[in-house]
Amino acid sequence: MKYINEINRRKTFAIISHPDAGKTTLTEKFLLFGGAIQVAGAVKSNKIKKGATSDFMEIERQRGISVATSVMTFEYKDMLINLLDTPGHKDFAEDTYRTLTAVDSVILVVDSVNGVEEQTRRLMEVCRMRDTPVIVFINKMDRDGKFPFDLLDEIEKELNISLHPLTWPINMGKEFKGVYNLYDKSLNLFTPGQKATDENSVPIHDLADKLLDEKVGDRDAAQLREDAELLSGVYGDLDAEDYLKGRVAPVFFGSAVNNFGVKEMLDTFIRIAPTPEDRQTDKGLVKPTDDKFSGFIFKIHANLDPRHRDRIAFLRVCSGRFERNKNYHHVRLDKDVRFSAPYSFMARQKEVIDDAYPGDVVGLFDTGNFKIGDTLTEGADFYFTGMPSFSPEIFKEVVNKDPMKTKQLEKGLRQLTDEGVAQLFTQHNGNRKIIGCVGDLQFEVIQYRLLQEYGASVNFVPLAFYKACWITGEKKKLEDFVRFKQANVMEDKDGNLVYLAQSEWFLNTERQNNPDIEFHFTSEF
Ligand code: GDP
Repeated sequence: MKYINEINRRKTFAIISHPDAGKTTLTEKFLLFGGAIQVAGAVKSNKIKKGATSDFMEIERQRGISVATSVMTFEYKDMLINLLDTPGHKDFAEDTYRTLTAVDSVILVVDSVNGVEEQTRRLMEVCRMRDTPVIVFINKMDRDGKFPFDLLDEIEKELNISLHPLTWPINMGKEFKGVYNLYDKSLNLFTPGQKATDENSVPIHDLADKLLDEKVGDRDAAQLREDAELLSGVYGDLDAEDYLKGRVAPVFFGSAVNNFGVKEMLDTFIRIAPTPEDRQTDKGLVKPTDDKFSGFIFKIHANLDPRHRDRIAFLRVCSGRFERNKNYHHVRLDKDVRFSAPYSFMARQKEVIDDAYPGDVVGLFDTGNFKIGDTLTEGADFYFTGMPSFSPEIFKEVVNKDPMKTKQLEKGLRQLTDEGVAQLFTQHNGNRKIIGCVGDLQFEVIQYRLLQEYGASVNFVPLAFYKACWITGEKKKLEDFVRFKQANVMEDKDGNLVYLAQSEWFLNTERQNNPDIEFHFTSEF
């Protein structure tokens, strides 16, 4: 337990939301509280804006921003907070998923006008897969949104999670007067366009206090008393364990752009959010307090300058202490690697560091050694699990337009796949190459980057596949199946066998005809 003090002061999390709900705005307010930035407007949105520029140019712009905002580390009240950024666009859902494997909790922003939206649902599914603790921030209370009780109902039903409000709004829209803090029983009064100051916080230990009527008016005071009674009857006290196990999500109301209700949430967050947690490996759990270092790569960023092939690999430290210039074991390649200039993302400045602790994210220069999901250890031979590939939604065959550049194309495809830009399936005993993606934007990125960075020009031919299934079974049975279904059997990036099904009907038929073969929709089972 050598590093227990370092571990206990770290909180590693992500803010997630449907585009436009207020993720960027909230991020910025957090950084302002942490003193990591001085002015509003310093955080650029990583959204893909449709319109003025063509999509792939827009993605390049976005890629530049997302290098800068991948990880934002700041200190707040002696805590060290690592805030990990996730892509805003749904086509990059897999990237978001991988980033969420590197955090210990999330804050989910919901727009009070729009309620639960498509991306909110998807992101929440991902959180549920790992039982990630979630705090909900209901934003834009300064607009005429849905009623708070209706919002709670909608979120509980749509996202299938129990909620527990810790603040409660007093009216909304133009009449929004502030929030009542159910936890420490104080009233925070709202003045539009102004940041909340200490004078705006009024302790009200007894809601019967006449001071309440004085501050918010008789009608809203009466409503709050009624709401508060209802709330305490329904919810009682928050059980921190339920939150940490991902069973209950605390809820805060506010307005990010007005910096209202944000501090209450941040103060609660640093109190209740989990510190670095145990991590699953193929050989059992690794505890952050284990003396020996271990960590995994969850993201790889190519250099924006095409003349430099080096990349940045993002390492999440899981146990022990990571040190500069020390030899570590790269488990997949079974070789030693060492880093002379690892860096951290303090105050959004890249800064070379000498060491890092569990919960931290370190940027490592990589010349092509890493794939997403790789494990580094201090000698031990285990790897972290829980970073599966999912079946893509869209499949296209790669057509090489320039046979002179076959080598470059192979290399480009391999490196882009290592980065996790898309999944590459290569024909088993053959040469066909099929790319699987979640959204069409990814194909544009691949085409553009293959040309820009590798000089390889390709076309894509759409294929009518429904799903990719990783197949397992007894050796002989598997070999027979592969022989009969040659045209549909491919290998993934790690050489695992994958069956591409034309339709749900085909898949079901194969399942019935081959009871000894198992078909999986993810690469980890
Ligand atoms: P993101 O896509 O989730 O990162 O959303 P942004 O933070 O970029 O916010 C989207 C838009 O909503 C911007 O125009 C913000 O100024 C606006 N916005 C954010 N918070 C609030 C809020 O509390 N009230 C209102 N009325 N607008 C907000």
